[in-house]
Amino acid sequence: MNCEILTIPCLADNYAFLLHCNTTGTTALIDVPEAAPVLAALAQKGWALDMVLLTHHHWDHIDGLPDLLAETSPKIVGAAKDVDRLPKLDIALNEGDEFTVGDLKGRVIDVSGHTINHIAFAFEGAVFTGDSLFSLGCGRVFEGTMPMMHESLQKLAALPPDTMVYSGHEYTLENAKFSLTIEPDNAALQVRIKDIKRLRAAGIPTVPSLLSLELATNPFLRAQSAESFAKIRTAKDSF
Ligand SMILES: [Zn+2]
Repeated sequence: MNCEILTIPCLADNYAFLLHCNTTGTTALIDVPEAAPVLAALAQKGWALDMVLLTHHHWDHIDGLPDLLAETSPKIVGAAKDVDRLPKLDIALNEGDEFTVGDLKGRVIDVSGHTINHIAFAFEGAVFTGDSLFSLGCGRVFEGTMPMMHESLQKLAALPPDTMVYSGHEYTLENAKFSLTIEPDNAALQVRIKDIKRLRAAGIPTVPSLLSLELATNPFLRAQSAESFAKIRTAKDSF
């Protein structure tokens, strides 16, 4: 994929992302926790914002939009089924729908669970997961059911293993501590945790992460049944 992707820290522990097609110069933002860091990144790169892709309705993913729209005029893209809770959409999409950011082909995956009608945006080599799949974790199941969230994560698990996972929060170190309680003997997890500690000590984001690494180390993604997933998710809720 001929593109550049920027990870932009926002608020206390959110991430927004800029996806820039090198062929056409088209730029999309994924989620808007706040406007200022996004505007600064656009200015620094000299990019104009063409699209905003929204993963779900929570305030820490959309509240920066009014300030952003005061300075830019992108098309707003989100889940057709959640139009009542999302900012006004220019393009409303459903599961399986295809769309483009310049020459980059995207596809919508319904990853309901954290919220109903939460969507992920999958491109060749990159998926933007919002609060569904995290590095070594997954979002809390607020609106959906445990089987629904398990199914959503399994859809993401089925993407090509060399896909980079761009998730909405820097929760990785806390997730790592919990993951070790589930799989204390997982050698790949032990190695990964050393890397995570090193990155965080240097103030470097642990997002994105490689899907193959999540498949080897993320207990929420590795849960084979909705029942085992539910046990792990419930344990994490009170960790
Ligand atoms: Zn959320």
